[in-house]
Amino acid sequence: GPKLIALTFDDGPYSAVTSRILDTLEKHGAKATFFIVGNRVDSCKNVVKRAHNIGCEIGSHTWSHKNLSKLTVSQMQEEMKKSADAISAVTGVPVKIMRPPEGGYNDTVKKNIQYPMIMWSVDSNDWKYRDAKKDYDAVMNTVFDGAIILMHDLYPATAEAVEKLIPDLMAKGYKFVTVSELMEARGYTLQNGKTYSQARPK
Ligand code: ZN
Repeated sequence: GPKLIALTFDDGPYSAVTSRILDTLEKHGAKATFFIVGNRVDSCKNVVKRAHNIGCEIGSHTWSHKNLSKLTVSQMQEEMKKSADAISAVTGVPVKIMRPPEGGYNDTVKKNIQYPMIMWSVDSNDWKYRDAKKDYDAVMNTVFDGAIILMHDLYPATAEAVEKLIPDLMAKGYKFVTVSELMEARGYTLQNGKTYSQARPK
């Protein structure tokens, strides 16, 4: 089968950057996954709806970007429920996956969270670089079949990097799919409280 990768964007939506990324995805018929902060949904409903409509997946990145390992169980469940409700009110479909802010989780989180936790295996470090060429190189130098790539739809440099990454990786035979599509294609059944960072061919 084709080489598959999942581009993922955290911390948005942020209209200016997210819309530009959606333009690029749409232009190339590519899909990505957005782990969005629930309290940002209301101000960016159209962007979230558009992402969903072009086949992107919307996951939760909590309601207010809290490190779940520092919360009580009920605070954690509140963060997740408010976020999932806000997202599904716009997309019309339930939220199936989440990414913990700061990659933070512990045994209590794993035991109580009602979602699979999606980590990453390729880090663009775009939050640090804020430089399209460096973001691009970071991904191109470490990408592999089945990778989950971490980016943030907050920085114009990230949107610029994506404009080059998508056609260049497609030219190398990669197909851009959502996280759920990637895991399903590779035979993983996602389980609540488990972490996933890649899906190499088995
Ligand atoms: Zn984050």
